[in-house]
Amino acid sequence: MKVVEEEQRIRVMEGPWDAVSVIREIVESGQQEDPFYVFDLGEVVARYHKWKATMPRVEPFYAVKCNDDKLLLTTLAALGTGFDCASRAEIETVQQLGVRPERIIFANPAKMASHMRHAAAAGVRTVTFDSETELMKLKQYMPEAKLVIRIRCDAAEAQCPLGIKFGCDPVADAPRLLKLAAVLQLEVVGVSFHVGSGARETAVYARAIHFARALFDMGACVGHVGMRLVDLGGGFPGNHDTSIDEVAEVINEALELHFPERSVQVIAEPGRYFAAAAYTLAAVVHSKREVVSKLEDSDVAETSTMYYINDGVYGSFNCVLYDHQHVVAEPLREHDDEPLLPCSIWGPSCDSLDCVITDTRMPPLAVGEWLVFRDMGAYTLPVASPFNGFPVPRVRAVIDHGLWGIVKELWPLTEGHFMIGGRMTGPQREASPSPPPVLLEPHIPNGQQNH
Ligand code: PLP
Repeated sequence: MKVVEEEQRIRVMEGPWDAVSVIREIVESGQQEDPFYVFDLGEVVARYHKWKATMPRVEPFYAVKCNDDKLLLTTLAALGTGFDCASRAEIETVQQLGVRPERIIFANPAKMASHMRHAAAAGVRTVTFDSETELMKLKQYMPEAKLVIRIRCDAAEAQCPLGIKFGCDPVADAPRLLKLAAVLQLEVVGVSFHVGSGARETAVYARAIHFARALFDMGACVGHVGMRLVDLGGGFPGNHDTSIDEVAEVINEALELHFPERSVQVIAEPGRYFAAAAYTLAAVVHSKREVVSKLEDSDVAETSTMYYINDGVYGSFNCVLYDHQHVVAEPLREHDDEPLLPCSIWGPSCDSLDCVITDTRMPPLAVGEWLVFRDMGAYTLPVASPFNGFPVPRVRAVIDHGLWGIVKELWPLTEGHFMIGGRMTGPQREASPSPPPVLLEPHIPNGQQNH
């Protein structure tokens, strides 16, 4: 492993390497004490290509809320994804990267007036809604908007169910809302849903696509003759040991069944899928303490170790509380043949809520020993705070030398300006079927818009 160059905050690597070997090298330099992330840009590129190969009809509109790290957004923008923005600030962030408004969906069904005014002024047209109140606000602040009705269709099980907050009932409420939109002379162009983040059921997408079809037909009956967008939301798996193959099969089949016509644009709003596996976190054990406790329903006492690390639930591990993530700690150092002993892992703050892992087994760890946490890119960084004075971990981006040669040509020369190389966009675009008339136009980097 060799660091070839360090450009624009990105380490360009040559030879065999992975996130853990990069962490090891950084830690062994002796300069690193604070927790940090290694962000592998190549993982994002690979996932983009996997998505395009597996669901060629579905355009990814990355959900910015999941992780708004500029390097991640820049990589996705350069690859040509669209973006799901939930707020004014998210819209501004992606527009500063040169993303045109046609590549943005304002996918928050309950928007604030000031954010709606901003979106309208910024040229963002496609928005979601799920209530009468939102229709009235859209009439007032975004009368030109292309509306997408968000329905509720929940996975049987999900890490974070979202239906409890958003999405109207597709049978009891949606027909009434479609009629009201028509009366208000608002244009409804599509149907969206979110089956729940970290969905553990794939068949739910088929159910939701079926509902979408019924609402397309119903919408046409009440005057929405231009319905042409299906938005599959998020819910796709993102950890390194997961795959989108199964869910893609369900989606492709349901789209062929219910929306065989290619004039219908299909998008999705994956967050976790792109972000989770690309970020690996390293944190160090800075303290430890032995505790003796009685085993449940028994007089037998057990000794366990409390390890204190320098990142916790007020930092990256907020995902344990908010995103219901189950994180796994791996010692960076090899512990061959050492016994796995009962322990718990705690964050650095003075709050007893700050527990990262309540009950696990690890080989005996020394103070100063580093732990690695994989799949830490989703719903971690944007929520992390420096509570109690502990800094949010810095991100160290890495990319393979071969890939960097391609990616850097797509990289913005300065903020808001993409340098056009075309080596990656060109063949990639030509290989995909020519798109039907679309509501949300494919991304064309600045400077090539008329070509
Ligand atoms: N779209 C919307 C409207 C969301 O609220 C979310 C997550 O909360 C996402 C997309 C991203 O979901 P996921 O990370 O499960 O792909």
